Amino acid sequence: MHGDEGLMTLREIFEDELKAYNLAWCRGCEIGKSHSRGFVLDADKTMVHLDSEIGTRSSLYRGLHEIAHCILDEKGLRRFECEAQANSWAAERMRLLGISVPRKTAGKGRTYVSRMKRWGRNIRKGRAK
Ligand SMILES: [Zn+2]
Repeated sequence: MHGDEGLMTLREIFEDELKAYNLAWCRGCEIGKSHSRGFVLDADKTMVHLDSEIGTRSSLYRGLHEIAHCILDEKGLRRFECEAQANSWAAERMRLLGISVPRKTAGKGRTYVSRMKRWGRNIRKGRAK
């Protein structure tokens, strides 16, 4: 799938983003969390754990979402707020890069956040960031 390819591949764009923020990329390690889903450890926000070729717009969005967890201030935010914030950053970054976010991907992100929000307790309104 190379339908959205311009001068750079999506993968190269992702690697450039990692470089811009001095982040490392792990495709697989012993940490027992799903690399196919992607994650960032609170204890080490210099590493994006994600097993993906970043060959599609939705996987680029996924990758940018993980980058957002590394670079954004998440102190004091509830989990769903972190997710919403990372989604917004990824979407905005895609916009700036001139790559549209697939509607399905954006929808899935919203569903995930609202589900998490519903299940979370003591939801805080009007956060600053
Ligand atoms: Zn890893």
